Amino acid sequence: MSHFLPPAAVRDRITQIQAQLPPTVRLIAVTKAVPTDLMRVAYTTGIRDFGESRLQEALAKQAELHDLSDITWHFIGHLQSNKATKAMQHFQWIHAIDSLKLAQQLDHIAQQQGYCPNLCLQVKFLPDPSKYGWSVPDLQAQLPDLDRCQHLRIRGIMTILPQGLTDTESRNTFAQAKALTTHLQQQPWSHLKFEELSMGMSGDYHLAVPAGATMIRLGRVLFGERT
Ligand SMILES: *Cc1c(COP(=O)(O)O)cnc(C)c1O
Repeated sequence: MSHFLPPAAVRDRITQIQAQLPPTVRLIAVTKAVPTDLMRVAYTTGIRDFGESRLQEALAKQAELHDLSDITWHFIGHLQSNKATKAMQHFQWIHAIDSLKLAQQLDHIAQQQGYCPNLCLQVKFLPDPSKYGWSVPDLQAQLPDLDRCQHLRIRGIMTILPQGLTDTESRNTFAQAKALTTHLQQQPWSHLKFEELSMGMSGDYHLAVPAGATMIRLGRVLFGERT
């Protein structure tokens, strides 16, 4: 059972949060498990970016919402290699590229189809066995290989904080993500870009935005609890 908010409350939440955000921050409405009628409410309130983490669910919703033709679709979940081609075809952004192997597979697909969505690299700034992604040293070691994937459109870094951090710990971790981004921007890559920083969810976006997030991914705070 889900306990989503009524449409008027969703409208209020979105309006309030949008009013607080700097214009440079893209608000992605995370709609996993959210029904399409509530997504239409979000759309009429001004949302144009939707984030989904399950491919089959997302494709069904894209079909139902095909009349809303200016939506930008973000795939925010872990991408399995057997779903890579579909995800590349149906999303404008993929946020959680989490291994060199996956990146190289996407590079091959991008070459074949002549198109690549925007991509972010998922980085773990703190050890978290429950999450995918590169540690900072592992990422640093593999960036030259990633830079050789010339068909990819890598745009920046994405991170998810482990559960249960204090605000100070969260702030420090977001600051590390911003510092890494700034550092990597100063290096002479052939293809890699580090303009984007996808970080901040319902519980911590108030800390991620001042730290320099360019994209925040909000679900529960907009729509209510999923279960
Ligand atoms: C579910 C999810 C979110 C949104 O989480 P909320 O706590 O509902 O805001 C953001 N990012 C990712 C990767 C998610 O899977």
